[in-house]
Amino acid sequence: MHRLRGGWQLRVGQTVPAGASIFPDSVCQACGACCVAYRVTLPRVELDSAPGGWVPAAMTEPYTATTACMREHPDLPGRCIALEGAVGVAVSCAIYPQRPSACSEFAPLTAFGCGDEACDEARRRHGLPPLGGL
Ligand code: SF4
Ligand code: SF4
Repeated sequence: MHRLRGGWQLRVGQTVPAGASIFPDSVCQACGACCVAYRVTLPRVELDSAPGGWVPAAMTEPYTATTACMREHPDLPGRCIALEGAVGVAVSCAIYPQRPSACSEFAPLTAFGCGDEACDEARRRHGLPPLGGL
């Protein structure tokens, strides 16, 4: 059973932890699995169409009355539209400074080479070994 912190949902429908810094740090720059494995939802107040918001609204679509989600790549279903590069090889987030808070909070220990349950699950789905914990 995954813990729930919100913002990230397994594409099979389960909600899993939101955590920390996806990019940039070396382990994430050679991964990107979570940006494909999970749908990222965000409060609409984070959209740049809202006062004080910062996430490019053009890269999102409505999700619920109060939330939006990152759009999928038009040719690569399930993959966040903002993800650039090859998963498991070299990736980057095209909107890194403006990414949703759910992204900036995901898997906070990757900067130290440690994953968490959601990170490890995403990596397994892409044939990458889990980072494991501290
Ligand atoms: S799955 Fe884990 S290691 Fe891979 S990009 Fe996401 S947070 Fe980083
Ligand atoms: S906005 Fe950036 S960090 Fe967040 S899921 Fe998309 S590519 Fe990954």
